[in-house]
Amino acid sequence: MSRSTATVRTDPADRLAAVHARLVSAVEALTSGEEWRRMLTIAARFPTYRANNVLLIGLQRPDATRVGGIRTWNALGRRVRTGEKGIAILAPCLSRPRRNDATSQVPTNQARTPQTPLDREGQREAPKELRGFRVVHVFDVDQTIGEPLPDLQPQLLTGSAPRLLAARLAELIRAGGFGVERGPCHGANGYTDFTTRIVRVRDDVPQAQAAKSMAHELGHVRADHEHRFLAEYRSSLGCRAQAEVEAESIAYLVTSMAGLPSEAYSVPYLAGWSGGDTDLLRAAATRVIATARTILDDLHVDDPHNGPPGIEPPAIEAFSVEPPATERGPALGPDMPQTGHEPPGRSRS
Ligand SMILES: [Zn+2]
Repeated sequence: MSRSTATVRTDPADRLAAVHARLVSAVEALTSGEEWRRMLTIAARFPTYRANNVLLIGLQRPDATRVGGIRTWNALGRRVRTGEKGIAILAPCLSRPRRNDATSQVPTNQARTPQTPLDREGQREAPKELRGFRVVHVFDVDQTIGEPLPDLQPQLLTGSAPRLLAARLAELIRAGGFGVERGPCHGANGYTDFTTRIVRVRDDVPQAQAAKSMAHELGHVRADHEHRFLAEYRSSLGCRAQAEVEAESIAYLVTSMAGLPSEAYSVPYLAGWSGGDTDLLRAAATRVIATARTILDDLHVDDPHNGPPGIEPPAIEAFSVEPPATERGPALGPDMPQTGHEPPGRSRS
């Protein structure tokens, strides 16, 4: 029996709800696994480097992805390969001033601070002071061998996208009052700058990834993150997380329904931003599904086959032929969810 003779058709809204439920299950499966727990343990061992050291690392080893000292690597069951040259960074030299140093007496108000530690004689110690910097050496993961590290980061999508999907998504972004650019995104795969009203998506990624990123940024625009979260982006990681969860869930629904599966990217991305709390995803379901529906309506993806998304011929094929994307070199490593401070008004994906 051909599919066209099927008598039971599912409401498109139910279809979207089902696809969303599948997404939540996938994130739940990922974050409840042993590999995820191990990845979090390992991530906690790596320090966050200050800007000057990020610069130093970038100058000496531009392709570095995960950097640590010898002791960190050894604790993870890995060792630095013989002959590898360390990456020189600056480590602060901190020391407590000697007690007989007249300039180092602990101020009375500080001496009463509970955080000030006691020394062996039970007296309050002076806080550590920065005395300068010394050079230490760290190594990139590629310079080490041993126990494999769990790799649960979002994987850039590869291959082509349904015809004109990225272009049509870009049209909808423009219709929302934003300019659309392609080019480097400072380590992200795309971003929406609400201040300059520009959406930018990397131009050196496969067509599939570019279309997915375009859908993510359109998600930020359509879910009105400009007014709902903009003021909090700088100060509240929680608001940022909610915005990213919504944008990526919308992107997942839109691309899945248009014939572009994005699990490899979306599931780890959502796991990272939700911190494994799938209730965040469930709480966003109503808004995410409604927003995805408006985008799909505008794309004229109306589920013509009523089949499972990503398996039937993509409805978006109805658009005219798009010239093949020009891939300008290898894709950079996938971004981990951003947890640092962003420029105000900018949302990266
Ligand atoms: Zn984003």
